[in-house]
Amino acid sequence: MAKVGFVGLGIMGAPMAGHLIDAGHTLYLYDVKPVSAELTGKGGIACASGAEVAKNADIIITMVPDTPHVNAALFGENGIASGLSAGKIVVDMSSIAPVETKEFAAKINALGCDYLDAPVSGGEVGAKAASLTIMVGGPEAAFATVKPLFEKMGKNITLVGGNGDGQTTKVANQIIVALTIQAVGEALLFASKAGADPAKVREALMGGFANSRILEVHGERMVKRTFNPGFRIELHQKDLNLALTGARQLQMALPATALAQQLFSACAANGGAAWDHSALVKALEMLANHTVAPDA
Ligand code: NAD
Repeated sequence: MAKVGFVGLGIMGAPMAGHLIDAGHTLYLYDVKPVSAELTGKGGIACASGAEVAKNADIIITMVPDTPHVNAALFGENGIASGLSAGKIVVDMSSIAPVETKEFAAKINALGCDYLDAPVSGGEVGAKAASLTIMVGGPEAAFATVKPLFEKMGKNITLVGGNGDGQTTKVANQIIVALTIQAVGEALLFASKAGADPAKVREALMGGFANSRILEVHGERMVKRTFNPGFRIELHQKDLNLALTGARQLQMALPATALAQQLFSACAANGGAAWDHSALVKALEMLANHTVAPDA
């Protein structure tokens, strides 16, 4: 059994850390907010800082919102880096910028420690069910060491390449998810305005070629009007920003991604930054002057 640190215990981090405790590992926990009684009640040990977590644990996982938060968690005052000693492994499971990830990895390597970028897909549902897809960048030996922990949190676990490649894969994932939400939103909105029952249309399409997890999960949210997150629009805006900035650096166009980002911005302009990303449909609904289903 391993001594594991977990920093960032929000929507995703809390259930992921919970699975590691349930598997019998010793968990050292830190968040800028108080650690929940549920996690300490199961035996998780609350620490006062990232440094304290890193002093006690051999593998330290971060699951915080964005690139600046990972920077603060690792290199801020009393951060993880200040508690590390050679031979430990830092695993960032947040979704952040691939370029900065390489810089973070180099700084952690300079302390004699390995770094893995290991962002996830599957959402809150996947975090709770321990069925996340985990896409990893970093050295093979560190991957092999951490894999048994990944297996307690996820199912489809792939070492894609070196540091940064895990985050690049996640950006690709977020392009597909955003564009599919847009496709499902347009389809259900069209069906509803044409007079068909969108719940039945979704059901009818689920067996066919248009089926997807997005049609199942986000399509249901659009019909039932459950836009509490889940995955917040502001986090998806962050991910598409990584895609669009990266594309600019690579001198390539991502036209549909740019459109999806504008639709998220329209939601944010209408008070929706913290809505679930399935609420992208609300921007389409404003354009259509029609809703998929009446708001509850
Ligand atoms: P969240 O906001 O619910 O949780 C983040 C946690 O990090 C919060 O509890 C916050 O207090 C803590 N935190 C922030 N800065 C910190 C710091 N410097 N030190 C310690 N703790 C700090 O976010 P989430 O939904 O759990 O998402 C976390 C990451 O996972 C994001 O990068 C997100 O893009 C990614 N992700 C989320 C989902 C999802 O469906 N929610 C799915 C896949 C990936």
